[in-house]
Amino acid sequence: MNQSCMYFGIETGDGWYNLIDELCEKFITIEKLTGIQVVFRQIKEKNAELAIHHEEHCPKPLMGEEDARCWFDIISELVDYTEYKSNYVCEECGERRNKTHARGSWLYALCNICYKAFVKERFGEDLITEEEDSDGEKRQVFGSKDGADSEVQSKEDETQEGSS
Ligand SMILES: [Zn+2]
Repeated sequence: MNQSCMYFGIETGDGWYNLIDELCEKFITIEKLTGIQVVFRQIKEKNAELAIHHEEHCPKPLMGEEDARCWFDIISELVDYTEYKSNYVCEECGERRNKTHARGSWLYALCNICYKAFVKERFGEDLITEEEDSDGEKRQVFGSKDGADSEVQSKEDETQEGSS
């Protein structure tokens, strides 16, 4: 790991480590090309998404102000894209996730397996229930019986809590 990417203040699960690492590699390349150093001020989870606070340092300017501003924009876009990608990665295990789990007003950036384990450990509930379909065939259903959990598909859904 290059020292120019400062890893202090990471407050997320290990599952997002690769996303942060990939971003770091790009910043190392940018530093080689431009002399611009990117320093992470804080990396945390916010609303089930990565939130990366960064700063640029230009100790040995290799370019004019206008070009530097363009590179700052590129750096910000790379940060934004990494934050966006975290919506599809489990914060705990790094596997792909397709949705955000919500419990009351809390959002969890976890895949089904990690969310199930979390709920079992924290609340002592098993989220897998057996249901019989019309053919009398048994199948396993994910989700709690009391409706305490819901899924959030988009940011707009955050205010609606699904416990009716
Ligand atoms: Zn997971």
